[in-house]
Amino acid sequence: MLEKLVVASNNPGKLREIGELLAPLSIEVIPQSQFAAGEVDEPHPTFVENALIKARHASRCAGLPALADDSGICVSALGGSPGVNSARYAGEPKSDERNNQKLISALQGKADRRAYYYCVIVLLRHAEDPQPIIVDGAWHGEIVDQPRGAGGFGYDPYFWVPEFGKTSAELTAGQKNRISHRGQALAKLAEILRSGKF
Ligand code: IMP
Repeated sequence: MLEKLVVASNNPGKLREIGELLAPLSIEVIPQSQFAAGEVDEPHPTFVENALIKARHASRCAGLPALADDSGICVSALGGSPGVNSARYAGEPKSDERNNQKLISALQGKADRRAYYYCVIVLLRHAEDPQPIIVDGAWHGEIVDQPRGAGGFGYDPYFWVPEFGKTSAELTAGQKNRISHRGQALAKLAEILRSGKF
């Protein structure tokens, strides 16, 4: 039975969401910062490769099972960009504010506002695990020009969720967790963990 795992992220927003979603399974979630595991490069063109590299690094540093997610926002009118480059869309150092400004500028005058968040989660039993568990989720919405809401993180103030008539930054944490890309992926993971297949 899995009792604790290291999460390969230093993003407080993600850590909070992952912690909340795994708490009902009595799994203790430890951030990789507690093991002085610095961030690894994410050089790959696919979300799943980047998640694997992060999970392996965290597992190696912590000597624990490791969970990593790689996620981003894919915008139709931009051919799927920023995609795997979402965190650093506007370059270094990472900045949500500059990323959002760049996104809104890139969409100026474009009628097609469709976008989706995508998330892949990898769970490794140990750093050399040859059969990682891999789950994913996609959350469809639209990009709006004016920010709304103070919740969430990243692109949330600009991500319009039609079924709520709100941006994802205006949703409560519980609402977001139930429908988000990460929430969907974690629900699939929770199902696998509950079934004892891990
Ligand atoms: P990662 O840490 O490499 O997975 O980068 C993911 C990036 O995608 C984040 O830094 C955000 O810019 C964006 N992102 C992913 N999930 C969300 C979300 O739930 N809300 C807002 N932005 C997100």
